[in-house]
Amino acid sequence: MCGIFGIWHPQAQTFLFDGLYAMQHRGKESAGAAIITKDGVENYTSMGFVNDLFKKYPNLRETQTHAAIGHIRYSTSGKSCIENAQPLLRQTKYGDIAIVHNGTIPKAKELKTDFLNKGGFLAGDLDTEIFLRVVVESNKKTLNDALIEAVEKIDCAYSFLILSENALYAIRDRYGFWGLSIGKKESGYVFASEAVALDKINASYVSEVEPGAIFKIFNHNGNIETRLIRTKSSVKKSSRCVFDMIYLSNPASTNTETGCSVYTLRKKLGIKLAEEFMSKNIKIDIVVPVPDSGNISALGFHKISNIPLEFALIRGHYTNRTFIDPSQEERSVGVRRKFDPVYDIINGKKIGLVDDSLVRGTTSKKLARMLKKCGASEIHLLIASPPIKFPCHYGIDMKTKEELIASKNSIDEIIKIIGADSLTFLSMDSFNDVFNKNNFCNGCFSEKYPTQL
Ligand code: SF4
Repeated sequence: MCGIFGIWHPQAQTFLFDGLYAMQHRGKESAGAAIITKDGVENYTSMGFVNDLFKKYPNLRETQTHAAIGHIRYSTSGKSCIENAQPLLRQTKYGDIAIVHNGTIPKAKELKTDFLNKGGFLAGDLDTEIFLRVVVESNKKTLNDALIEAVEKIDCAYSFLILSENALYAIRDRYGFWGLSIGKKESGYVFASEAVALDKINASYVSEVEPGAIFKIFNHNGNIETRLIRTKSSVKKSSRCVFDMIYLSNPASTNTETGCSVYTLRKKLGIKLAEEFMSKNIKIDIVVPVPDSGNISALGFHKISNIPLEFALIRGHYTNRTFIDPSQEERSVGVRRKFDPVYDIINGKKIGLVDDSLVRGTTSKKLARMLKKCGASEIHLLIASPPIKFPCHYGIDMKTKEELIASKNSIDEIIKIIGADSLTFLSMDSFNDVFNKNNFCNGCFSEKYPTQL
C-alpha cells in the first residue's frame, strides 16, 4: 500500500501538496517530503495526513525547489512511528540520498540478518532501510551503478523514488507489483503510484515505469535530461497487484497496464458477478453497495440484473477507509462510525449487499447486523472477487492465513459468522477474464505467486 509522488520541475514546490493529497486514500499513518534546496536535500516528516505535514512545515509550499519526493504511509513492515515515516534521508558516500517506497521486500529479513551478522547496524526496522544499505555497501563508483546492482540483487516488491543531490530516480521491481506512473508537466516530469495524482496537477500521463527499469531525471547545461536504464532484471511482463485495482486505487486512475480505468474494471467485475448470481435463483429486492469500494461493481450488477440500485448505506465523508486503520480494534470501531443506514429504504427488503472483496469479514459482519436491525428481511452478500485465502508477501496488509476469513472457514461457516442469508463470490475464471491473468498477480486468491517465496 502507501503512495509515492515525485516531481522534477522548475516550480516543484507548487505541485507537491496536490500530488500527495491525491493519494491520501492509500494511507494515513504518516506523510513526508524531501526537497532539493541550495543547501542540499532537506527532509520533512509528520505523523498523520498530508495536511498535518504541511501544517507542521508551512515553508514546504514556499521553499523554491526543482525536485521533490513525497510519501503517504500505510505500514506493512516496521512500526507506525515518526522514526519510520518516509522519506528516509541518509548521508552516504554518494552524497545525501532520500528514498520513498511502496511495497514490502520479502527478502529483507534475510538481508538484515546477513548484514547484522557482519557487524553492521541499522537505524530502523524498515525494509526500505535494507535496500538503501545494499546500495551504499556497493563497491560501485557511482550511485547509478550501485542502484542497478541493488535492483538486480533484490527482486521485489517495490516502487521507489530516490532523490540524490543532483538527480531523481524512479525504480520499479522486475515484476511491477506496484504502479509507478510517469507524467509530463511542461518541461518537467512527475511520478506517482497512481495516475490520478498526475491528473490532479494537470500533468499528462506518459506510461508506467517499465518493470525492472530505472528512470533517471537530472539537469544538464540548464536543460532537463532523462535516461531509461534497463537492468538485467528488466522484463516486459508485469505482475501488477489485482487487489490494488479492486480495493485501493482511485477509480479514476488509468494506466497502460490495465488499459482502462479502475472504474471500468470494477464495473466489469460487477457485471460478471450478476451473471453468476442470477443462475442461483435467489430473489433480492434491491442492490446496495458498500461504499465506496463496492459502488461501481454494484452499478455493473444492477445494469445486468435490472434489480434496483439503492444507496442505502451513506458513508461519512469525514472518516477514512477502515482497511487502512492499523489495528483490528480501530477497524471495528471505524465501521460503525463510517456508515449511516437509510431506514425506510432498508426496512422489509431482501438486500443484495455488494462489496469489492472479503478479507477479515469485519465490515461485512457489522453491516449485516446493522441492516438486520433496520428491518432488512434477508441479506445476500455479493463479493465482486474470489475468496482471499492466502497471505500477501508484497505489501498489502494481509500477512497471515489466520486473519483471512475465507482461509479457515467454509462458505456456510462464513455466512453464519457474518449473519447473512447467502454468500456469492465471483468465480476465479470470471475474475481472470476481467484481469488479463498473465499480467497481474492474484496470489492471495489463487496461491500462485509470481515469485519464489
Ligand atoms: S498477493 Fe494479492 S495483495 Fe499481494 S500483490 Fe498479489 S494480488 Fe496483491
